[in-house]
Amino acid sequence: MGFFDRVSESQDMGIDLGTANTLIYIPGKNIVFDEPSIIAIDDDTNKTIATGKEAQKMLGRTPKNVRTVRPLKDGVITDVKETEMMLRDFIKKARGNNNLTRSRIVIGVPSGITSVEEKALKDAMEISGAIDNIDFIDEPVAAAIGAGLPVDEPVGSMIVDIGGGTTEVAVLSLQGIVISDSVRIAGDEVTEAIKRYLKRTYNLIIGERTAEQIKMEIGSAYPTDNDQENMEIRGLNIVSGLPKTVTISVEEIRECIADTVELIVDAIKKILEQTPPELAGDIIDRGIMLAGGGALLKGLDSLIANETGIITHIAPNPLKCVVYGTGKVLEDYDRLGRTSRKK
Ligand code: ADP
Ligand code: MG
Repeated sequence: MGFFDRVSESQDMGIDLGTANTLIYIPGKNIVFDEPSIIAIDDDTNKTIATGKEAQKMLGRTPKNVRTVRPLKDGVITDVKETEMMLRDFIKKARGNNNLTRSRIVIGVPSGITSVEEKALKDAMEISGAIDNIDFIDEPVAAAIGAGLPVDEPVGSMIVDIGGGTTEVAVLSLQGIVISDSVRIAGDEVTEAIKRYLKRTYNLIIGERTAEQIKMEIGSAYPTDNDQENMEIRGLNIVSGLPKTVTISVEEIRECIADTVELIVDAIKKILEQTPPELAGDIIDRGIMLAGGGALLKGLDSLIANETGIITHIAPNPLKCVVYGTGKVLEDYDRLGRTSRKK
């Protein structure tokens, strides 16, 4: 079989199945798919109406019989069937019109996934195309590889992957997880804290996307250069039901998310306390690496550094670490294939 036959027949894929976003990487093509993990389903026919960006636009705007959901919202697979339907559509979009006979898939999954959920995903992917081989890899391991940490050396590395639904904290050495924890507090909870605060303090109701926008624009975990800034927020007055605008400050938002952010820092501290001394020494020397979209919250690195006393880095492309990690595993399977979960 010549080179071109092989290319036309096989299409290996690295997948980051995240609670907020799913990304797909094809060796030689880079990231070919990057969309929110959302599906709109017609309840009458049980058919997929839309997925990804298209389904996101429908959030909160659908007729009664259409359900728009994030099937992984809580960090594990909340609804196996919906996840299956969504993933199948994503793979179809990523592959385009290619006619394929065989391929390998490396997929990053939350480390809390059960074997039943794993099996269901495997079945879903097998249905969606001729797939020879599916490797599941724990998200923190993929994130560490994608962030360029020396996972196959006998040194300790700490990766903290702050996604939408979960924060995964792991210490890795020699391609394996030495110690890890997954908490259900991450970016979405920070967004929720902003919503709760505005409702409680100003009787102001805002939607999920507005709250997320506030977080990204003026949210911070630590004092910043633009602490004097304000932002005008439009929402609905809970009492009158009429539109209302309030002006809030950077400091105010920092205060209202502080308790939630602290829970993320606590998860890191807890793992550090349980890390064997030799590896802890390595982490002190090399620092903590942050990945996932939550790592982009302004000042979070400074807060973590300040509270742990350990230098804290943000990975160059925090939202893409996991999918790049799965891609690297595919491209260097002989060396990194061992990092996948044992079946
Ligand atoms: P997952 O792996 O669970 O799909 P992601 O790594 O894609 O999650 O991260 C999604 C989370 O990152 C969301 O909660 C989103 O609000 C948050 N996020 C993305 N960009 C930023 C930003 N610039 N500032 C703060 N949070 C961000
Ligand atoms: Mg993720």
